[in-house]
Amino acid sequence: ATVADIDINDNIREIVALTAQMARYNNVTISTRLDPDLPCIRFSPSELQQVILNLTNNAIDAMGKDGGNVEIVTGVNEQDNNMIEIKVDDNGPGIPAQYLDRIFDPFFTTKAVGKGTGLGLSICYGIIQKMGGTIEVESHVGKGTCFLIRLPLNVDQT
Ligand code: ADP
Ligand code: MG
Repeated sequence: ATVADIDINDNIREIVALTAQMARYNNVTISTRLDPDLPCIRFSPSELQQVILNLTNNAIDAMGKDGGNVEIVTGVNEQDNNMIEIKVDDNGPGIPAQYLDRIFDPFFTTKAVGKGTGLGLSICYGIIQKMGGTIEVESHVGKGTCFLIRLPLNVDQT
């Protein structure tokens, strides 16, 4: 993948534009809170977008026709080595506790045959790991799910 200085906020805005129609069709609103002072990182824009797109699509899928809200937040955590944080937070059905440690496994899916490959989150995990970052999930059944990505300022991707 081509490496470039990427503005994560611009990346996210593009994903929001791409998913707007599908979100509307599912009664989902996507809102953003993007830190205007977020530093750029050097990485493949298409790979980071793949991560954000996977997380957003999963949230939309999870909420079904009842709809809901997905909020995408960016920021710099000064308490944590100035790590860049990206949160994708939904108020969907949540993930049952017994699945939580399996969702990043390849081929783990709760979707009907043909609806999901179970590869999305394992691909996300691999991309973020390659960037030297981490991806974690916090979820409460009946309340929602939040994926938190932490990225080091100096992503060293060649
Ligand atoms: P797929 O989308 O093909 O099922 P993923 O790896 O993207 O595969 O996701 C794995 C599983 O994790 C999903 O099938 C679903 O059970 C669960 N999941 C992921 N994101 C969410 C979410 N935002 N809310 C509820 N469940 C989720
Ligand atoms: Mg998926």
